[in-house]
Amino acid sequence: MAVPQNRVTRSKRNMRRAHDSLVAANPNECSNCGELKRPHHVCPSCGHYADREVVAQAAAVDLDDDAA
Ligand SMILES: [Zn+2]
Repeated sequence: MAVPQNRVTRSKRNMRRAHDSLVAANPNECSNCGELKRPHHVCPSCGHYADREVVAQAAAVDLDDDAA
């Protein structure tokens, strides 16, 4: 088993961990439905991106129509 050659001081350990904190999300309002969404991502609630629908929602798809 590998064993550290030298003890890491509290100072060095804390310096290493200085960049480990999580940053808060920065949600934007969807321009179509007003839900909060991640910027530059398709809206998960309405499927719109840049004011057009790019992901069809489950309620809008009629499976019988598609099969014909
Ligand atoms: Zn939306």
